[in-house]
Amino acid sequence: MAVRTGNQYIESLDDGREVWLGNKKIDVAHDPLLRGSIGGMAGYFDWQNEYADECLIDDPEKPGEKMNVSLMLPKSAEDLAIRHRGLERLSRYSNGMLGRTPDYVNVVLSGHTARSDIWARGKPEGYERLAKFHREVIDGDLALTHTIVHANIDKSAPPLAGMNSDLTLRVVDRNENGIVVRGGKVLATLGPLADELYVYSSAPIPSGAEEYALIFSIPVKTKGVIQICRDHYGVDASVADAPFSSRFDEQDSFVIFDDVEVPYERVFCDGDLTVYNNLNAGVSPGNTLQQTAIRAMVKLEFAYDLCSSIAKVTNSLAYPETAEMLGEIHAYLTLTRSAIVGAEARAHDWGAGAFFPHRDLSVLRCVMPGWMSRVNQIIRVIGGHNLLCTPSLELFENPEIADKLRKYLPGSNGMPAEERARIMRMAWDFAGSALGSRVELYEMFYLTSQSRARIGDHMNAQRDGEWGQVREFMQKSGIVAE
Ligand SMILES: Cc1cc2nc3c(=O)[nH]c(=O)nc-3n(C[C@H](O)[C@H](O)[C@H](O)COP(=O)(O)OP(=O)(O)OC[C@H]3O[C@@H](n4cnc5c(N)ncnc54)[C@H](O)[C@@H]3O)c2cc1C
Repeated sequence: MAVRTGNQYIESLDDGREVWLGNKKIDVAHDPLLRGSIGGMAGYFDWQNEYADECLIDDPEKPGEKMNVSLMLPKSAEDLAIRHRGLERLSRYSNGMLGRTPDYVNVVLSGHTARSDIWARGKPEGYERLAKFHREVIDGDLALTHTIVHANIDKSAPPLAGMNSDLTLRVVDRNENGIVVRGGKVLATLGPLADELYVYSSAPIPSGAEEYALIFSIPVKTKGVIQICRDHYGVDASVADAPFSSRFDEQDSFVIFDDVEVPYERVFCDGDLTVYNNLNAGVSPGNTLQQTAIRAMVKLEFAYDLCSSIAKVTNSLAYPETAEMLGEIHAYLTLTRSAIVGAEARAHDWGAGAFFPHRDLSVLRCVMPGWMSRVNQIIRVIGGHNLLCTPSLELFENPEIADKLRKYLPGSNGMPAEERARIMRMAWDFAGSALGSRVELYEMFYLTSQSRARIGDHMNAQRDGEWGQVREFMQKSGIVAE
């Protein structure tokens, strides 16, 4: 079973995982609140089969079998082009509204596996176990999510110091079977609906804090893995009434590891700072960002078309202000597309033959959160009250009121009222609903905060020596001596 269907995915959820939602512990597979989200994720698995030509590739180790394109270990520009095409198709399933479709962490894990040279600096069994796990993910077509951020509350102290040191995930024991881990991690998008939690490094940690330097993966059903969900924003409505909220709430959770035993075969790094501190920087900026940037591009394409559609409803396309805002979104889209094309054109071997796009792609982290928030603001500005004059599509089937809806709530230029409602409901669900608001927060933080990304980018520029122009100009102009 290298490529699952939606039904196979649904069956795998009935495994006793511990998930708390609202005021109670829930049975994820059967809880009515999550039905829409589960259907939405199942749809993703069906989508990869529907678009098999783009989303699936031949399994290099098992002739005749297929695997998801996101699990390839890219070794050439051609591989990257194939992966790009597949990731783009996968993103189109939700037009980027699902951030944590399994291809995201698949790309991360494959990137980690491709960089065998980083693992070679640590104990050999780490890489052997990782490669075996990568194989397991291919064979089971597993849905992974990740929880990589330390659960630090007091930001005046470093993430592993003061009160934070006792909150976040660390190893507390080792026995003949594995390591025992305790503590929290933020967040796990899709956690309740995933098969596995992949835990790895986000930022380097200092020497002396080895107990926190852990990379492992664990099935979400493992005893002691406790997920505390945020409120669910999925709604029980038709797809026409709530195109995103009815299917695409990828439920986030805070994860508590309550003395969880992680078997050694799943422990890839246990306190080895040479591996832990180099892995993310050696993979994420070029590799992971290919997936996230393609999703952002697909979403911006959709947002541009959505905003144009909103403006057509009210015939406001000719307003200079509207045209300017549409041009603004299109500029974000073009810049994103150009960044991807540029980084793919400058792709290179990062080590051990791992062929990733250029790391400059990660600069999108410094601007994309602001762009995504701005897009939502533009939708509100262009849409105005129309975003709320949106009768349910089902109301048009009620003869008592339907004629009045058609008379008083049409679009401009002869657009039927049903079409106006469809477009405006979609726009509201994209930018204004509870889920739309959560998706905006996701865009602001899922790759760390924009502030931290900008600070990091500046530090890299300083380290790489991208400076000195002022001194040179002064010297050449005779302002100071050469
Ligand atoms: C909806 C959602 C889903 C997510 N899903 C996942 C997931 O599945 N897996 C995962 O691992 N993570 C996930 N994350 C990311 C993670 O949970 C954090 O949000 C992220 O790492 C940023 O940390 P923070 O929220 O503490 O914000 P911070 O980075 O601390 O920023 C908060 C604000 O404080 C300021 N700030 C604080 N400290 C600094 C500093 N040192 N330097 C600069 N500015 C600072 C910034 O201005 C910033 O705006 C998700 C986040 C959200 C919102």
